[in-house]
Amino acid sequence: MIENADKTRCLIIGSGPAGFTAAIYAARADLKPIMYQGMQPGGQLTITTDVDNYPGYPDGIMGPQMMEDFKKQAERFETDVRFGMVTEVDFSGRPFRVKADDGRTVLAETMIIATGASAKWLGLKSEKHFMGMGVSGCATCDGFFYRGQDVAIVGGGDTAAEEATYLAKLCRKVYMIHRRSELRASKAMQHKVFNTPNIEMIWDHVPQEVLGDASGVTGVRIKNVLTGETCDLTVMGFFVAIGHTPNTGLFQGKLDLDEMGYIRTIPGTTRTNIEGIYACGDVQDRYYRQAVTAAGTGCMAAIEAERFLAS
Ligand code: NAP
Repeated sequence: MIENADKTRCLIIGSGPAGFTAAIYAARADLKPIMYQGMQPGGQLTITTDVDNYPGYPDGIMGPQMMEDFKKQAERFETDVRFGMVTEVDFSGRPFRVKADDGRTVLAETMIIATGASAKWLGLKSEKHFMGMGVSGCATCDGFFYRGQDVAIVGGGDTAAEEATYLAKLCRKVYMIHRRSELRASKAMQHKVFNTPNIEMIWDHVPQEVLGDASGVTGVRIKNVLTGETCDLTVMGFFVAIGHTPNTGLFQGKLDLDEMGYIRTIPGTTRTNIEGIYACGDVQDRYYRQAVTAAGTGCMAAIEAERFLAS
């Protein structure tokens, strides 16, 4: 098995903005990186539409196109970009040993983990149907498209509270739908929500169906969990903010993770608890979660890998 293994100075797992930026920097530093793209090549941006907040695109760009551009740039410097998932990792010694679902084994002198996080969804058929057509998992990314309109957001944690107040600055009205009669968000965030006049709390309700037509979302049907009664809200945008799950299942028990499963990095760096392994992008960031911050940490990871190899 080991005789046939591919060898690389730098293996990158994940193909969002963090992974591809790491690839561009690692390839230009002559580390001859191999990248496994993972389950969703291009990452979360491939399920958004217009991206208007990534610097360098004055007219905006579609998320899938942007990720295609990232990939082209990484391949221009000869990153070996592979389809497939890493299924097994062995960090017990260097080189690190990794198996992928294409049947190959890779021996890597350094590793950059950029597997991202996945937004949690309600699991409604209509939610999936209108994804990118009014249904969004990121208010900072998509709120702008609903300026002056009415929108709804579901969730009662800090993310939902923060996104609701963000949306309230752009939108005419924000319905905040929560399944209980008390928010989980911090008191400070609750205070902000309750003091924003155009946020209307809809307590004890859950979304039952996203309503829409060929042009996109037109409303949401909600159910009172105490009485079972349903009613419809007229909204053009429907935001889901019920949490994220970091994609770290593969690393449990092998890398230091925080209580929510995010990879712990040494503050100000992308270094993990194992020398030679770096984590960048949303897999180690539960706070900013932006394409541009992910790209920034991808750059940091590649520079750290390069310097580690040179030291
Ligand atoms: P979270 O704290 O896990 O909150 C998720 C919310 O979604 C909860 O209110 C939960 O309801 C609701 N929810 C979950 N599943 C649902 C479902 N299927 N249907 C309807 N509602 C559902 O997640 P988060 O808000 O993303 O925050 C994650 C972590 O990051 C937290 O530790 C948070 O403090 C932190 N964070 C901090 C900041 C900040 O400091 N500025 C900003 C964002 C996030 P229940 O309350 O009933 O469980």
